[in-house]
Amino acid sequence: MSHVPLATRRAAMLAMTAGATVALMGQWPSARSQAPIRANDDWFRLGIASGTPTDSSVVLWTRLAPADTTQLHRALMGAEPAIPVQWELADDEWFTNNRRQGTAFASPDLGYSVHVNLTALAPDRWYFYRFRVGDLTSAVGRTRTLPAPGAAMGGCRIGVASCQNADQGHWAAWHHMQNEQLDAVVFLGDYIYEYPMLGRFGHARSLGWAYHLDSYRERYAIYKAHPALQAMHAQVPWLLTWDDHELHNDYAGIHAGLSGPPGVDFALRRAHAYQAYYENMPLPLASLTRGLQGLASGADLRHYRRITVGNLFNLFLLDGRQYKDAPPCTLTERRGKSRVEPSQCAAWNQAQRSMLGLQQEQWLAQQLGVAAKEGSANSSRPVWNLLAQGTLFGKRDNQVGEGERYFYEGWDGYDGARTRLLQALAQSRVSNPVMLGGDVHEHWAGYLKADYQRPNSATLGLEFTTTSISSRGNSQADNAGLLDENPHFVHNTPDRRGYTVLHLSPTRLSADLKALDDVTRPDANIYSAAKFRVQAGQKVLEVG
Ligand code: FE
Ligand code: CA
Repeated sequence: MSHVPLATRRAAMLAMTAGATVALMGQWPSARSQAPIRANDDWFRLGIASGTPTDSSVVLWTRLAPADTTQLHRALMGAEPAIPVQWELADDEWFTNNRRQGTAFASPDLGYSVHVNLTALAPDRWYFYRFRVGDLTSAVGRTRTLPAPGAAMGGCRIGVASCQNADQGHWAAWHHMQNEQLDAVVFLGDYIYEYPMLGRFGHARSLGWAYHLDSYRERYAIYKAHPALQAMHAQVPWLLTWDDHELHNDYAGIHAGLSGPPGVDFALRRAHAYQAYYENMPLPLASLTRGLQGLASGADLRHYRRITVGNLFNLFLLDGRQYKDAPPCTLTERRGKSRVEPSQCAAWNQAQRSMLGLQQEQWLAQQLGVAAKEGSANSSRPVWNLLAQGTLFGKRDNQVGEGERYFYEGWDGYDGARTRLLQALAQSRVSNPVMLGGDVHEHWAGYLKADYQRPNSATLGLEFTTTSISSRGNSQADNAGLLDENPHFVHNTPDRRGYTVLHLSPTRLSADLKALDDVTRPDANIYSAAKFRVQAGQKVLEVG
């Protein structure tokens, strides 16, 4: 992308104003007359965000958090059910060159969230946006559209992150990511954790389980209040998928996880969690598909999509939770941190078990074929094909030496589905596949193999699974010998929190696996745990 470097002043302003109410910098157009709102009641304290960009559209997001909704409702609206929120889009952060403006409605039915799906925008452009209610103005956000498919691009920088357990560390990672000159963030899941919360590391207070709409909304409000997270949302658009903790640990599709709050109906809880997720993310309204097929079918919120970025890459954003079949042998094999010995689990090799659900599997195979065909027909095809999903993809035998032991609910418990995905990749002959994952709270880098049991089988692509922003991982000792046991992986950092920066160009991809020196400190330093380069067409990880 033609990268617009941030002026120092602009970066400072974004960092300073994110999450705070700022004075107006330009004239607001035709504000509806409204009752005055107390200036000390910051309705925008949950921040602003943008996301799901295409070459012609982007979603702007905020969620109002009035201190006293009832009173202000009456004051503002009388009998009207929703609060009008003005939004504005401009070419510059001073809003002197106004491009677009309008009014959206924040409804209590959707947690006072605002989702503005802007369409018919110019491709490959940076924009600035802000919101206003009454006399209150939000921080200024920056977002961008993608280059048109096939458009020539020099390069693009993507931040990849997952797993921000607010109870397990400070979020210095978000602070450092603001300096990475990114074009977008890809977030791979565990945006919140539903567990009872202790309220450590500066995050508000203790709470019980998140298990119904109000408690999920409250959990998001606590997470969203963090200034560094808000600043990262305000700086670039995000592309999102989810994992289990947006609802419940280790849930799969319509199947509840092992232990949770007692007496809660899982189907209802799932519907509430999905609604709260939508309310808090910069997703288009069209992604909320509840009611089309009913709760029991498992189709509530459509995440999976293909995004094409100029001549540089396709991003296949995948959903590995919503349509997932129940994992094998969860109740009989719980020794050793949820790890299963295949020999002790009759259901282990049932190939029909799906991680993505059959519909998404078929969609992915079909889209990979389309992408490959476009590639062969067009010299300006996207060079790279990124597959972004929740968790570690390659086989990971946790039992060093004799015997095997696997996490039951990762891809190792869904080997038939993993094989189908690898076959779809191989058959499509799509160029330069790169798998991205999260969930395991460790950095891993390695190779996609046609058959993980045979180290000499064809190498189909690369894998980078990113560590967590703050969620706890393993120690070096825990993972001793795992790289030798699983030779398709070439790197593992188990004991550091951080994120990954991908820099893509038409000829090269580089991955910088970033790590914090101490997640228990808000002012932790960041360093590169490892750096890899890949030449287009090579499928070889070079260090450096
Ligand atoms: Fe996690
Ligand atoms: Ca072994």
